[in-house]
Amino acid sequence: MNELLIAGARRWGDAAPTDLAIRDGRIVALGAEARAQPAAATIDARGQLALPGFVDGHAHLDKTFWGEPWQPHRAGPTIADRIDNERRQMRELKLSPARQSARLLRHMVARGTTHARTHVDIGPDVGLAHLHGVMATRETHRGFIDLQIVAFPQTGVMRQPGTLDLLDAAVREGADAIGGIDPFAIDGDADGQLDGIFAIAARRGCELDIHLHERGEQGARSIGMICDRAQALGLAGKVALGHAFCLGELPPAVLEPLLARLAALDIAVMTHAPMGYLPFPPVRRLAEAGVRLFTGSDGVRDAWTPLNTGDLLERAYLIAYNSGFRDDAGLELALSMATFGGARVMRLRDYGLAAGCRADLVLVDAECAAEAVAAHPPRRLVLRHGRIVARDGAALLPQED
Ligand SMILES: [Zn+2]
Repeated sequence: MNELLIAGARRWGDAAPTDLAIRDGRIVALGAEARAQPAAATIDARGQLALPGFVDGHAHLDKTFWGEPWQPHRAGPTIADRIDNERRQMRELKLSPARQSARLLRHMVARGTTHARTHVDIGPDVGLAHLHGVMATRETHRGFIDLQIVAFPQTGVMRQPGTLDLLDAAVREGADAIGGIDPFAIDGDADGQLDGIFAIAARRGCELDIHLHERGEQGARSIGMICDRAQALGLAGKVALGHAFCLGELPPAVLEPLLARLAALDIAVMTHAPMGYLPFPPVRRLAEAGVRLFTGSDGVRDAWTPLNTGDLLERAYLIAYNSGFRDDAGLELALSMATFGGARVMRLRDYGLAAGCRADLVLVDAECAAEAVAAHPPRRLVLRHGRIVARDGAALLPQED
């Protein structure tokens, strides 16, 4: 006996609705074969679109103000201003990383996210406290969402002595990847930071996911140095870059050779299509060049910005909007970054809507994937490992304590 039959759902890419049979957390059969076996429960999808569960490849769950009183934005315009302001606000508000990450996770699950990679602040001022808080949330929410943790040196590496040891300890204690940040602009010692974090990754066998806000030629230099180390240490396919604003402003003579290196070393690039005053990677050009792309919410309602929402379908819309995409292929490319792109970065196995895949899926009122991006309509149903975790925009999780 199957546990669930979803009748009449239109899978991404299919012309006609089909039925999906679900058992043991997987899609076990489609169409007539799905109907051939009895099911304990049936959901009539009435032709709604089925998408694979969204993958938020770049979040900051530990620092959100979600669920707290509204905090007007107070930071100055530079990255350094924002870091200083964030540390001040975190001290004043005394937020619990465990409680805040749980609050935001509930919201993300309600919006259809079934997998997330979150960067967690590590540094001499906070030690491993944020890591421990988010690890506790990962444990209590294991039945609802899959979470990967990046040990993230928000305040810098070389300018904050002791950070490399803390990053190493974070991986020993359960972080899945090592982060980095603007090796020239934040640290002023690009070789020191990159050598340090790559050495940990090589020693611990973990992946790297590096924030890069550096602009223009400086950003290009950092990317080149990251490629050099990925190549030398045999870490092809194990490195991701977050933001990489510079890729949106380099002349073709500089950009094209960099894209060729990123593709050859299988280095993935994350953009959340930032606010209009910032450049960001030309995603269609990157895709054509064979560079892996993914997206994420980045900071949701935190000291960095009040605006991000943790809604990956809306994020796909923003990528399409800010990229100037109008055609279906462009809208679907944006959606692929919020689904299959992130799934590859998180190395999810059996991800998708084919028979045999894990039953992580979202139903929405849309005719096709392009319309889902354009309208980013409410999530009717969210299934994670075959279990209903959200319905009509509300997460079906235990109440917050
Ligand atoms: Zn970030």
